[in-house]
Amino acid sequence: MALAPIELLPAELLQPIFFLSDMNIALPHSSHHIAAKLAHDYCYRAICTKYLTTNLNTRVKQSTTQTKIFASKWMTWEFFKSFVTKAWEDKGCLCGKTKYEGCYDKQWPPNFEDATTMLFTRSHLPVLSFVKCRIPVKLLHGPWTPEKTQFLRFLLWTTAMTVDWADHETRKLTLEAKKEAVLTGNLEVVGLFNHNRRLGRAPNLSMVRFAVLEGDCNRSIVYDTMAAARTWSLRGNGWNDEGLDKWCEERIKNRDPKGDWLKVKLQELRATKLSNGGHVMPGQMQPKTGDYDDVDGDKLVIAPLKWNQVSISKYRTWNW
Ligand SMILES: [Zn+2]
Repeated sequence: MALAPIELLPAELLQPIFFLSDMNIALPHSSHHIAAKLAHDYCYRAICTKYLTTNLNTRVKQSTTQTKIFASKWMTWEFFKSFVTKAWEDKGCLCGKTKYEGCYDKQWPPNFEDATTMLFTRSHLPVLSFVKCRIPVKLLHGPWTPEKTQFLRFLLWTTAMTVDWADHETRKLTLEAKKEAVLTGNLEVVGLFNHNRRLGRAPNLSMVRFAVLEGDCNRSIVYDTMAAARTWSLRGNGWNDEGLDKWCEERIKNRDPKGDWLKVKLQELRATKLSNGGHVMPGQMQPKTGDYDDVDGDKLVIAPLKWNQVSISKYRTWNW
């Protein structure tokens, strides 16, 4: 098919047109020939600066554009890290202010490896907290590389992005992704799903059963999943499950220490009375009880529940 006259324009003419269009993302989206001529970091950075750092007072349009930006191929973790660093390095904090402008808890340099170490509060939010669009599908499925995990965690920690649950394919991929993380023993990713309600429902007994029966009871994952299920209301008799009890008994018979360990945890979760001289609340798991040394890499790692303490979506005060 013959190219339209605008597609034939050289990059040095097309790029100014793009900037004169006020960086309307519809232009590169209209043709891959045009997109190729606009494929420069300075164009991408300008787009991000406009749509990710400024309130344009065009709620729907800005949100739709933000979704397109994050879904773009060029929006890689490497690019995003470099954009964030360049965008706020002169201020020295992700809140976009110097201490003379009101920043009182400098978060710099950004911790890209683990965003959850950065402290934000209702009165000290990152500029990105007003980004309210869809989490790109590319970050919602395995394989779970460290880069993908870091990117997803950073967005969950600093923005108000959510999954597009209305999209059937996205929903399916996200649910599969959670199971894949359990089956591959990826505690970091399982933790993200367990403790972020923006990534779906809280784990329930059937998820615990899946982690035990299908995931061969990776104790760190099972512990985290059970802790999250309890936090989100699974209590007392809700923990009764013949399948799990049977699994424990079989493992105990085969001298697998996991069987004893899980049995103790289930007893703790099912408890309805105070124990240990009134020091332990009913239904609360004790990290040390039933624990044993690392056997075949089966070491219990308990991740801190940071997501329950801070959530950007909870603190977001910017009203669209
Ligand atoms: Zn700050």
